Amino acid sequence: MELIFLGTSAGVPTRHRNMTSILLNLQQPTLSQMWLFDCGEGTQHQFLKTSHHPGKLDKIFITHLHGDHLFGLPGLLCSRSMQGNPSPLTIFGPKGIKEFVEMALRLSGSWTDYPLTVKEISAGEVFDDGLFKVTAYPLNHPVECFGYRIEQHDKPGPLDAQRLLADGIKAGPLFQQLKKGQTVEMPDGRRVNGQDYLGPSTPGVKLAIFGDTAPCPAALAMAKEVDVMVHETTLEHEMAEKANSRGHSSSIQTAELARDANVGKLIITHVSSRYDWEGCQRLLAECRSVFEPCELAEDFSVFPLA
Ligand SMILES: [Zn+2]
Ligand SMILES: [Zn+2]
Repeated sequence: MELIFLGTSAGVPTRHRNMTSILLNLQQPTLSQMWLFDCGEGTQHQFLKTSHHPGKLDKIFITHLHGDHLFGLPGLLCSRSMQGNPSPLTIFGPKGIKEFVEMALRLSGSWTDYPLTVKEISAGEVFDDGLFKVTAYPLNHPVECFGYRIEQHDKPGPLDAQRLLADGIKAGPLFQQLKKGQTVEMPDGRRVNGQDYLGPSTPGVKLAIFGDTAPCPAALAMAKEVDVMVHETTLEHEMAEKANSRGHSSSIQTAELARDANVGKLIITHVSSRYDWEGCQRLLAECRSVFEPCELAEDFSVFPLA
């Protein structure tokens, strides 16, 4: 799994930073899907500068309806249609996302030639497909805004086939059920619990991808002990009051949250266009003064997750 930042600027683009969009490449053995978090204007152009293709997108999560997180969506949806990829796509977002998508397609005489589902969410579990569980948390921003906690389920350990054979349990179709930790009845009437023959499970990856937010009560629970927390750092700490009054966080506030939530790594993004490269390094240094395992996302930064 890996995170690829397609846009890292707040509000408006700069020469080096497009507006917010984050690609999560799941790279699972059984599925090649990718998920997108927010879709600022120009996201489809950013895709062209990577080796990834919007046709592989399976789900899009929108944190909130501000334009710097949303205005790339109609173009991306239409281009995906023209690229001859029929795979279905689901969009999750706050109330209003359905109207926005339907209106943009209808008024521009556009359509998608793949099944498109738009689901308006509220706080709580968004879905659990057995591999991943995604939960939405309410944040503190002038419009309804969610952060997404993504939890990969732990992977069961390998089945100890040698020990099964030693106990007189022969390889066969029942092995598949035992592999999943299920209890099965053998032809001789014995009940065998797969859990007794599984090695230690591998912990799944846990991620917290925040939308725009001032510090808020839900943030701690959302980020609690994740491997990677992605959070906005719109302004430096000296401007914390201004940041908070507009529903944003300062560098130090973001780093304090990462420290308090005991996360593995903090990645900061959504930086104000007022900062040049040196300004961004200052934001990073402020964060690291509180929480050392912190990285600053640039456009096209790639962070491996597992
Ligand atoms: Zn924003
Ligand atoms: Zn916003």
